[in-house]
Amino acid sequence: MSELAVTDPLTGLYNRRQLHQIFERELNIARRFDIYLCFIISDLDHFKEVNDNFGHDAGDAVLSAFANILKHEARTVDIVGRFGGEEFMAILSETDIDGASIFAEKVRDHVQKARFMYKGQRIEVTVSCGLAERTKYPSLDATTKAADDYLYKAKKEGRNR
Ligand code: GH3
Ligand code: MG
Ligand code: MG
Repeated sequence: MSELAVTDPLTGLYNRRQLHQIFERELNIARRFDIYLCFIISDLDHFKEVNDNFGHDAGDAVLSAFANILKHEARTVDIVGRFGGEEFMAILSETDIDGASIFAEKVRDHVQKARFMYKGQRIEVTVSCGLAERTKYPSLDATTKAADDYLYKAKKEGRNR
């Protein structure tokens, strides 16, 4: 029961509520020991079109596959979760913005090259990410807001970035 309460049923990743608790704890640890901590928000590009063109079940399959890519690229100490809808979050402890950029770029590249197949049809998927490192911002909310602003910028500048 306690595992169900913290898990997103579709992807098996942490759900939003659990992510929030983990953020706070990780941020407190990072402040206490003066270590880097990066937040990465990933949002699948034009995901509405996936549902519209291939159906909601295909969309769900893509979300699951994306979650596996995130898990695959993350280290065991990294935390990955589903923030909601087609938005995901990664928390990388003891990682500076350069390290986090390398991670995000690996995820982006992996998604672009992956062959998402549903009932014999290939679905082209790309992802955009926004990153923020906690020492640059005064609070948890300000840090996640910054990551979200950068995500918005990535979308505006053409997605898949
Ligand atoms: P953008 O590139 O700007 O992010 O465009 P987008 O289409 O991805 O963004 P938008 O917010 O317009 O649409 C998100 C879509 O994600 C709409 C919604 O139906 C779909 N979605 C959210 N949660 C789920 C889910 O659990 N399963 C499926 N199949 N679709 C979902
Ligand atoms: Mg979205
Ligand atoms: Mg999207």
